[in-house]
Amino acid sequence: MSRTGRGTEHESCTFCGKSRFKVENLISGPPGVNICNECVDVCATILTEDKRKQTSSKESPAEIPLTRDSVPSPARIKAFLDEYVIGQETTKRVLSVAVHNHYKRLLHQTATKGKPSEVELEKSNILLIGPTGSGKTLMARTLARFLDVPFAIGDATTLTEAGYVGEDVENLILKLLQSADFDLERAQRGIIFVDEIDKIGRTTQNVSITRDVSGEGVQQALLKILEGTVANVPPQGGRKHPEQQYIQVDTSGILFICGGTFVGLEDIIGRRIGKSLIGFDSNAPAAGATPSTDSAEPQKKKELLHQVEVEDLIQFGMIPEFLGRLPIRSVLDPLTENELRRVLTEPKNALLRQYRKFFELENGSIEFTDEAVLELAKQALAKKTGVRALRSIIEELLLDTMFELPDQKESKDFVITDAMVRRERPIRAKKKVAKRPAATRKTSA
Ligand code: ADP
Repeated sequence: MSRTGRGTEHESCTFCGKSRFKVENLISGPPGVNICNECVDVCATILTEDKRKQTSSKESPAEIPLTRDSVPSPARIKAFLDEYVIGQETTKRVLSVAVHNHYKRLLHQTATKGKPSEVELEKSNILLIGPTGSGKTLMARTLARFLDVPFAIGDATTLTEAGYVGEDVENLILKLLQSADFDLERAQRGIIFVDEIDKIGRTTQNVSITRDVSGEGVQQALLKILEGTVANVPPQGGRKHPEQQYIQVDTSGILFICGGTFVGLEDIIGRRIGKSLIGFDSNAPAAGATPSTDSAEPQKKKELLHQVEVEDLIQFGMIPEFLGRLPIRSVLDPLTENELRRVLTEPKNALLRQYRKFFELENGSIEFTDEAVLELAKQALAKKTGVRALRSIIEELLLDTMFELPDQKESKDFVITDAMVRRERPIRAKKKVAKRPAATRKTSA
């Protein structure tokens, strides 16, 4: 190959046909074959784009992503959730089936579009009930990742019914549109996770007078978009006003997963089934009743929550029509000490792996002994904020180490022991074993 800055007049680019005088450079290949600088640029762009597509498809976690004619089986969805979510077996199964059916329904609708169908498949949104840090958001996010669909998270407490200070419910859909880069078709098959849904219960004590005081109005406003409607979404967000142009989004294919902690729900369930949470079984004879111990109470709470019925949620403050739009319900359990320990090491993006990577980026290393991992889990369990506690405990523990890490001249290798987690011993880098020649050692001695 040679460069023909000058060359003969009749030489031209074999690709675009431009003569060598019309381009900056002409590169010659075998006799009679040339390419100009402009065509080289075009080729480079095509190659870069191809490479980008290849790497992004490799990074895509779904081996068989959701397509127009295939939906991954519940077992495959569950297997993917298993890689990221520890415990919560029942909820993972419930979600896998619900999500499979949701997208099956969408396929069915596309296939029978315009034709009368004997069976109308109804939309099935999901309600997740569980303590903070138990994995509600993580599961919704992981599902969206697996299915390669847009995903948005909204907070029910920021929503208000029209006319009050706060966000319109349409802003949830705007977030989804933004996550789909305003690709309407993709957004209409996305997943929206609405957090803190229990905070819009009717009985919620709301001190603000500018907000929808009861919370019921927000439930009413959410009803339509949960069920499926064509929502008018203001592209810039904010409040709607008459002169504005709207994007019309059909919400019937959007899967809504609502999550809430529903603190106190177990008391309502307990009252319904006649068992009091303070540890007395009302069905048992009074003489045989024993107060609950500290360790028995969480177990009892857990068992009660699993018996939740619609009537309990209504009593909690959710309106029946709203619950009707969330026909699939699942209860998540607080993570046990053993599960917290597994969260630290097992998931693909496990916390300790993240820290290991972080130290590697600084040309260092960090390891945690098994006993240290157990100690971290123990401390997190005591804090009662689920996995969230783990991160804050480790951040606090490693704050000084991470502060000094970039400037550390000596060793950047650390082994964290349980005594360090308990703050009984300071965290120090491993000493480097210097292998110096014998002669030097002698002189320095
Ligand atoms: P929630 O929505 O239930 O309050 P999140 O899903 O936001 O909790 O979890 C908070 C953090 O804890 C996230 O970083 C998440 O990755 C992690 N986490 C929570 N539960 C689990 C779990 N069961 N398995 C693995 N990680 C979890």
